[in-house]
Amino acid sequence: MNDQLVKFMLGTGHVRGVLVRLDATWAELQKRRNYPQAISALVGQMAAASTLMAGSLKFDGALVLQIQGDGPLKLAVAECQPDFGVRATAKMADDLPDDAALPTELSALVNLHGKGRCAITLDPRNPDSGLQPYQGIVALTDPQGETLPTLAAMLEQYLAQSEQIDSMLMLASNAQSVCGLLLQRMPAAQNAAEGAEQPEEAYARARHLAATLTPEELLQLAPEDVLRRLFWEEEVRVFEPQSPRFHCTCSRERVAGMLRMLGRDEVESILAEQGEVDVRCEFCGQGYAFDAIDAAQVFLNTVAQPPVASNRH
Ligand SMILES: [Zn+2]
Repeated sequence: MNDQLVKFMLGTGHVRGVLVRLDATWAELQKRRNYPQAISALVGQMAAASTLMAGSLKFDGALVLQIQGDGPLKLAVAECQPDFGVRATAKMADDLPDDAALPTELSALVNLHGKGRCAITLDPRNPDSGLQPYQGIVALTDPQGETLPTLAAMLEQYLAQSEQIDSMLMLASNAQSVCGLLLQRMPAAQNAAEGAEQPEEAYARARHLAATLTPEELLQLAPEDVLRRLFWEEEVRVFEPQSPRFHCTCSRERVAGMLRMLGRDEVESILAEQGEVDVRCEFCGQGYAFDAIDAAQVFLNTVAQPPVASNRH
């Protein structure tokens, strides 16, 4: 099926939602790295979640969902650009048990010693736009300190508490697809007609209907069929579908910027040791090699050109 992101609105506009399906994008993400099954499922769901949340926001920049783990998973990052270019990567502990021995519970994967961390970052595309980078911390436990069982539960709580938007999030993944459904309650209108349905009622009904969807159905049905299956008795307004795709934003200029941050001494010491500086993109696997002449050029440009951060796109 086609990779699709579909935004929709139910009935009188009290409930909005986003559906995402990543097939080709997911194949691209998996092709580049061979993750154990449990990690792969998490990375896929993070990719779907970052795309869903980017789809529900109006923000001209990247949405980055990041988990720092203290168990078998060390780091997982999924990033969605405003044009729905998606990339994701994960780093695992060195002494990883084999696939069968790897825990599947989220807490055992990422929060083994209670030091796991999850954050959502909004990174403006254009630093001159006046938009500020924003980071929100996603709790791994509920207010009672109980571990939340899934990424979807963590993000639901985050959206309800930090963004003040009642949300229902469903994520599902298998080897072929990662899919997600996000439902959100819209704020009550100021001048709602007397006797008109309240947002709470509309949202409760939509939630109730959405809860009947199984992960298998979410994975097997195209977005329009999910909407038909769930909301056939409702009035559904569907917006122009978007096409998420795998896209890595790495570039030689960005790597050069990284080398500048590393500093001339450090780069020269790597050159002396290895003859060239080899940098491999963690997301797409693209290699960037800088020999002594390239490196000299990198530091020469420091003075002549504005910093690389202003060229990002
Ligand atoms: Zn890359």
